[in-house]
Amino acid sequence: MKFSGKNVLITGASRGIGAQIARTLADCGLKVWINYRSSAAQADELLKEIELNGKQGAVIKFDASDEKEFIEAISTIVEADGELSYLVNNAGITNDKLAIRMKTEEFMSVISANLTSSFIGSREALKTMSKKRFGSVVNIASIVGETGNAGQVNYSASKGGMIAMTKSFALEGAPRNVRFNTITPGFIETDMTNELKDEIKELYINKIPLKRFANPKEVASVVAFLLSDSASYITGETIKVNGGLYM
Ligand code: NAP
Repeated sequence: MKFSGKNVLITGASRGIGAQIARTLADCGLKVWINYRSSAAQADELLKEIELNGKQGAVIKFDASDEKEFIEAISTIVEADGELSYLVNNAGITNDKLAIRMKTEEFMSVISANLTSSFIGSREALKTMSKKRFGSVVNIASIVGETGNAGQVNYSASKGGMIAMTKSFALEGAPRNVRFNTITPGFIETDMTNELKDEIKELYINKIPLKRFANPKEVASVVAFLLSDSASYITGETIKVNGGLYM
């Protein structure tokens, strides 16, 4: 795959899907900026691994839901590299509870961590990418943003919001050659799904046509495609990576 840009920021890249996106994009020849909020040791370990493979990277600590910190991080990257070519808004959390028991703060905290952080990142990326008339952003939403899910009114609202927001950003970014796309993963093997009880996992695996959860590599390869020049005519799209669970 060919990349006309040179660097990428991945939020929440210390673990799980984000860490694998960083590995894959470093292998594609991009300098990867690995963002973390609390898992410093894991982020450092990942950078070491990438550098040992002869690839380029850097670690950058900030809370993606904190506007000031996110803006400062993008400035640091642009100062260091002269531009930000690509952004992957991947940082995300869950805080599951049935709606009738969910406090407004519990709803808002997930909206802030998932949706508001992606808004801030997309807006700041569009500002800086517009200057170069080049850039691409991928937002990692979720299958439950398309289907809804009991116990996840906060999470599904945040992810459904990301899908719609990305289309609006795509419309505003297109005249400046900045593309915005969404990926909606189903069940991926990470700490987030490790929290599920075995019987729940079994229940879902039975429902998934491909009869398994995905490896994070199977999301990262789609991110790489969407950022690359191979997807230069794709914007405002939502790509499902869910083993056929929702078509
Ligand atoms: P994970 O294993 O729980 O890792 C979450 C990552 O996000 C960590 O690196 C964490 O960093 C970071 N993070 C969380 N809040 C942050 C914040 N405010 N600022 C910066 N970083 C933050 O999650 P995952 O399974 O890899 O999920 C990654 C993304 O895919 C999420 O958006 C999730 O909603 C989405 N997704 C996952 C699945 C799945 O099955 N796993 C399915 C659909 C969608 P620290 O550890 O440093 O705090």
